[in-house]
Formats: sequence, C-alpha cells, structure tokens
Amino acid sequence: METTAAFEGLECTATGERFDPATSHHPDGGVLDPVYDYSALEVDPAEMGTPAGYADLLPFPRDRLVSLGEGTTPLVEAPGLAQELDVGRVLIKDEGGNPTGTFKDRGLALSVTAAREAGADRVGLSSTGNSAQSAAAYAARAGLDVQAFLPSRSAFANKAMVNVHGGDMRVVEGRLTDARDSFRDALADHGPDSDEPWYSVEPFDSPYRHEGAKPVLFETLAALDFEPPAAVLYPFEGGAGLYGLYKAARECRELGLLAKLPSLYACQSEGCAPVAEAFEAGRGDTEPWEVPDTVCGGLEIPDPRGGDLVLEALRKTGGGAVAVDDDDILESAVAVNSREGVEAGVSAGAAPAAAWALADDFGPEDTLVLVNTTAGGKDADLLRSHLMGQGY
Ligand SMILES: *Cc1c(COP(=O)(O)O)cnc(C)c1O
Repeated sequence: METTAAFEGLECTATGERFDPATSHHPDGGVLDPVYDYSALEVDPAEMGTPAGYADLLPFPRDRLVSLGEGTTPLVEAPGLAQELDVGRVLIKDEGGNPTGTFKDRGLALSVTAAREAGADRVGLSSTGNSAQSAAAYAARAGLDVQAFLPSRSAFANKAMVNVHGGDMRVVEGRLTDARDSFRDALADHGPDSDEPWYSVEPFDSPYRHEGAKPVLFETLAALDFEPPAAVLYPFEGGAGLYGLYKAARECRELGLLAKLPSLYACQSEGCAPVAEAFEAGRGDTEPWEVPDTVCGGLEIPDPRGGDLVLEALRKTGGGAVAVDDDDILESAVAVNSREGVEAGVSAGAAPAAAWALADDFGPEDTLVLVNTTAGGKDADLLRSHLMGQGY
C-alpha cells in the first residue's frame, strides 16, 4: 500500500493503541484514526485551499486516489442571511457541488481508495441514501463492486442512482437501523477469510470517511486567511463530517496556521437529536433516540457511532448542539434557495435553522459558516411540497 510520507498509521480513539497503515478496520470494532508526524511537515498556508496544498495531510498520494474531482467547493457570501441574523458575515460552504451532490463524496473517495489499495473486490455499507449513491459512483470509478443496504424510506433518486452506477442494492423494510442490522449480518458472512470478502466503507468502520471530510475545513480556513470564523454549523447524522472538521482544525493549530479553533455546532432535527440531548444534559456520550422521526432522512440515525467523538469536539471548540423542528429546517432550506440562490437541500437546512435559533449568541463582528451538505436539486420534491403547503 502506497502512503504519504508523514502518515504513520492508525490509532484507536479509545485506547491510543497504534496499528499498521495497512490495517483496514479495527479488530475489535473500535474507531481508528489516521495519524501523521506533523513535525516532518511543512505546509504553505496560501496553498491549503487546494488539493496539492493539503496532500501531505491525507494518507494516500494524489496519483493513487480514486477521484471524480470532489472537493474545492465554493464558499459563497450570503449577505441577505447575514443581515437577517444581524451578524458580520454568513458564508455557505456549498458541498452540493461535489460529483454526486453531497459532501459524502469526499470520504468515499478516500475509503474506496483504501479498499482498492487493500485489494478488495467489493465494498459494502448501509446508508440513509446519499452515501450509498456516492459509494456506488466511486466503486464504479475504481472498478469495484458495491453492496448497499438502504431502508425503504430512502429517497428514490438515491436508490435509482445506486443501480445506475451498477451497484447491488438491498432495500430493507423499515428505517436505517433495520438496514444496518441486515448489513452487519451479511458482513459477518463475508469476513476477510470468506470466499467473497466485503470491505466496509461505513463511517468509523473505515478510518477514512471522517479523514476525507478534513479538506472542507482546510478550504474554508484558507479562504479566510486562517482567521477562524465564530462558528461552523454542520448538519449532523453520524458524526464523520464534524469529527473530520474538528481534526482538521486541530491539525491547523498543530501546524501553526491557526491560533484558536473555530467553534463547531452540530445541527439536528428535534425528531432525532441524540447529540443535542446529550450536550444539553452535560453527558459525554449519546443515548439511542427512541422514536426517530424526521423529514430529513439524511439526518436520521438514532444511535450515531460518532456521537461521543463529536460531543468532545463541540466542547473543546466552545461550540454546541442545536435541535430544530422539521418545519424550521424546511423553511430555512427554502430561504437559502430563494434569498441567496444557493441550492440547499432539506437536511442541509438544519444549519441555517440552527443559525436562526442561535442568532442572539452572535454579534455584528462575527462570521458564521454554514455547511450546505447536499444539493437542493436532490430534494426538489420535498422542498416544493413544503412551499405548496404554505400556499405558494
Ligand atoms: C450524511 C449527511 C449529513 C451528516 O453527515 P455525518 O458525517 O454523517 O454527520 C448531513 N447532510 C447530508 C445531506 C448528509 O447526507
């Protein structure tokens, strides 16, 4: 396996135990995190917004990456929202510009690269929809097979595109937890020593899903000349995105680029808010949400694997967690589309909805960054039916 010079291997987030760079998954089901020798690195802050600029902070050399041109997404000024929120600036990091329309492409590019480097033939995952679509695209790119498990409620476009990319799909009756249980059972039959081994690319199974999210923050900070924004608001599902951003912020500080970590906020729907609940209760771990029910299919994980890691990130950065109701999420997503022209999808509306909920905490000097995790066009039906429900 070819790796970058400073990449030293993988570390268990719970015990600190180190594993060889070629280790694909934690042997006991823990979370592995890629580690680097930062003292050996020199980065040019002016280049940190480009793939060449942060190449040494990813595990695989650029010429080995399975890529569809993900990343380098726009950071769009949103003056109308800034005025309404009465803050200095609002910037939207528009991840809808990624190859399959969501930030998931960044993590799947790395995870599928790792799978190919490890000699895998077939990658597998369960997903609320967007990551399955992305996995199918990157597997097609890499010449690998993909086996996706989706709950029946997943969006039609996600299911259709898994097929169109040539993926194999099992649609499981029920919700994400049902699809995930089916995937776990199947994965147990397709272990490393079986005739047909599967390589899991689920977040936190693979060390590279959260690792792939880091450039969202590198690009954002580079565009701001490493002046940290007051807040970065991120729609939360499983935690890979936010944990990746937290790691990127710590790396920038370690490399002397950043004096202070930006405050990170997890934005959830009130219909499934285990992180916001734990944050408010002052707990370090999440408890499973009993009856998850939100229109944001992409945010509905009742027992997020990265919950504990993200709670640490929120506290260490002076951020927080916010739960907003589905109507506010839809309304906010539509507002971003109609006032700023940026195509925000439904789940992505959790970030501006949280910004409204928190507006009193920020002032006219503050810059807020909203991460638009998905393109509005993926949710055109839901957004439009919300409008029609309002009498438009
Ligand atoms: C997956 C997803 C998220 C949340 O990402 P996590 O890394 O799982 O927390 C947010 N928005 C959309 C649209 C997503 O698909």
